[in-house]
Amino acid sequence: MSKSFDVVVIGAGPAGYIAAIRATQLGLSVACIDEWKNRDGKNAFGGTCLNAGCIPSKALLESSELFHRANHEFSKHGISVSNVSVDIAKMQKRKASIVRVASPACSRRQKWKGSSGMENFWVTAK
Ligand SMILES: Cc1cc2nc3c(=O)[nH]c(=O)nc-3n(C[C@H](O)[C@H](O)[C@H](O)COP(=O)(O)OP(=O)(O)OC[C@H]3O[C@@H](n4cnc5c(N)ncnc54)[C@H](O)[C@@H]3O)c2cc1C
Repeated sequence: MSKSFDVVVIGAGPAGYIAAIRATQLGLSVACIDEWKNRDGKNAFGGTCLNAGCIPSKALLESSELFHRANHEFSKHGISVSNVSVDIAKMQKRKASIVRVASPACSRRQKWKGSSGMENFWVTAK
């Protein structure tokens, strides 16, 4: 069985997904195709930026900056802390929750109204 769409977008990163949403907002039927799988094997929209790049790296960067400041800068401000340690698992959990909230699936439910004409396909486009 074949199906037709006005627009087919390959790649649901920041470029493709926004283009797909805009096309649906203009009344077009859209197929959005992505092959991304996260480490847990689940499909995910958002591409490199959301799943491996900008968002997770900045979440971890903030954690490591806070650790650095606690160790090297707090004392200059007259703030004393002791036993500063890193819990990597907790840091990763926080990062994962930020990625989850920022995911298109979540944002779309919340604010991208009018994008219901989009069908998602989790395959490699050839
Ligand atoms: C560690 C890191 C940190 C970064 N930090 C920043 C930052 O702070 N600020 C910033 O502006 N940029 C940052 N970037 C760059 C940013 O991630 C990219 O510019 C952005 O993701 C590009 O968006 P895109 O939609 O063009 O491509 P991508 O996000 O790469 O999305 C492409 C999508 O297409 C899919 N795809 C490709 N081929 C096929 C196919 N044949 N079939 C199905 N699906 C396919 C992929 O699975 C992917 O989901 C960072 C990148 C990295 C790696």
